[in-house]
Amino acid sequence: MNAEYMTLDEDEYQEMKELLENSGYEVDKNAFACIMEEEAYVMLREGFVESVNNDELQVVIAHEVAHLNGVMDEEDADRWALEQLGENSQEILKDMWEERHGHEYNESKQKTN
Ligand SMILES: [Zn+2]
Repeated sequence: MNAEYMTLDEDEYQEMKELLENSGYEVDKNAFACIMEEEAYVMLREGFVESVNNDELQVVIAHEVAHLNGVMDEEDADRWALEQLGENSQEILKDMWEERHGHEYNESKQKTN
């Protein structure tokens, strides 16, 4: 699924975040995915877009596109994203893995069951 990207200023982002959270959706702090009138969108917080380089931005977009493709688990979404990303972005995502998921990146997901 392809997505359009839209940047929202701080107020717009917080407004939509609240709206979605009140409807029971989880919204990531810098970006979220949504479908409006059958179009898929990745909404990006302006302050975030301005604070990262393109490789970092690609990580966040790929993560949200994973959600658009029905991958809802946060770690599964990052694994899905890894497969779509270029080398630089892959490294960035792996470096952030512990911060995002509480453990280091492993090739295969450790199942606890
Ligand atoms: Zn997410």
